[in-house]
Amino acid sequence: MSKPTYDAIVIGAGSIGAPLAWQLSEAGLSTLVLDPRSSVGQGSNKCAIGGIRATHSDPAKIQICLKSLDIFSTWKDRYGDDIGWLRGGYAFVAYRETEEKTLKELLIIQKSYGLDIDWHDHDEYLKIIPSLNPNGLIGGTFSPGDGSASPMLSALAFERQARKCGAEFHYNEPVTDMIRTNGTVTGVKTEKDTYSASVVVNAAGGWAKEVAALAGIDVPVNPDSHEAGITEPVAPFLGPMVVDIRPIVESKETPGSANYYFYQHHTGQIIFCITPNPSIWGTDCRETSVFLPQVTQRMIGIMPRLKNIKVRRTWRGLYPMTPDGNPIVGEVEEVENYILAVGMCGQGYMLGPGLAVYLRYLITKESKSNRKDSLELLKPLTLYRDFGKKEALK
Ligand SMILES: Cc1cc2nc3c(=O)[nH]c(=O)nc-3n(C[C@H](O)[C@H](O)[C@H](O)COP(=O)(O)OP(=O)(O)OC[C@H]3O[C@@H](n4cnc5c(N)ncnc54)[C@H](O)[C@@H]3O)c2cc1C
Repeated sequence: MSKPTYDAIVIGAGSIGAPLAWQLSEAGLSTLVLDPRSSVGQGSNKCAIGGIRATHSDPAKIQICLKSLDIFSTWKDRYGDDIGWLRGGYAFVAYRETEEKTLKELLIIQKSYGLDIDWHDHDEYLKIIPSLNPNGLIGGTFSPGDGSASPMLSALAFERQARKCGAEFHYNEPVTDMIRTNGTVTGVKTEKDTYSASVVVNAAGGWAKEVAALAGIDVPVNPDSHEAGITEPVAPFLGPMVVDIRPIVESKETPGSANYYFYQHHTGQIIFCITPNPSIWGTDCRETSVFLPQVTQRMIGIMPRLKNIKVRRTWRGLYPMTPDGNPIVGEVEEVENYILAVGMCGQGYMLGPGLAVYLRYLITKESKSNRKDSLELLKPLTLYRDFGKKEALK
């Protein structure tokens, strides 16, 4: 019996794989998505709290996320699904001169890329976020064009649109091997079948390293875990995603942490998340008893009015980390017809749809100039870069 044959196989139906399937099938490629889980977005995607910003310091991430913002913000008008899009902006706060200096330095880079972001001093900042603790507040940056949406609703919407364009999604079916012929990837194997394809994309998130090894490629992607939580809903009072980058040093009383960020969801709940420091490496996603006492201190410190709000649920998921905090995207030297779209760190949800568009340009060769632009844009995200430089605000 001949093998089922596709133009493209996408490994992983997550933040990257779902929009990519939409983009590839919309371009007319017969596309198959394979995932071990039982439905779309059940890996890290569903653990993301939904923040979407273009205000990075890396030019590739800025361009990709500008494209993502356009897709998320117009999705309902274009395709009809409500994905919970809310343009609340992002606010990076400064309570110390150290953070003020970091944010102001970043602002110069961000403005040089034409991003809509500004610094606001104490009084002006409190007009944007009246509930912030005013004590010691110096000010902060605000980028009104950024926002948030629901990772689960958007993954479903991307899948729905991909299926309309003919893409197939096979769940409960992990990729177990890669078929290679004379240095070219020609398909994949699962426990159920063998599939041929003209191109295979590794979009396996926190599991990308194992999947890359099947093609003989070593990618420096290692998962670390982050916890998040959601409160009861309350009346709208908070517009932007608030990000506090003050580090908390580990002590006997409290574990260490880096960034703490939270916003009010379009349904009224406060969603919050923290970056543990040191990182907690591995794929263990069980919630801990450490997280809530740790996070509530930071939450009440920065916004005292949240002291009586009830937390409904917590969860823990994976950031697929790279050594420099930037994704690894593009073709590889070891084998042909194999593309990496891995190592999204803490930003895979916001990168997903924009990256899908640039990967479409790269893979489909629909337009020579789009492919050239895409190759240029993705060049700094190559597997073969120097991983020594770190991205600020990763
Ligand atoms: C608490 C928390 C908060 C976050 N908040 C944000 C946020 O606000 N904004 C943001 O942009 N990002 C956020 N992130 C990060 C974001 O969730 C990830 O960067 C993103 O989901 C990674 O996308 P991905 O497609 O690479 O991985 P995933 O979404 O995990 O998709 C990978 C898929 O590959 C599948 N897979 C694994 N092995 C195989 C195999 N052998 N064969 C086939 N498929 C396989 C998995 O089942 C999975 O479905 C957050 C993460 C966490 C944990």
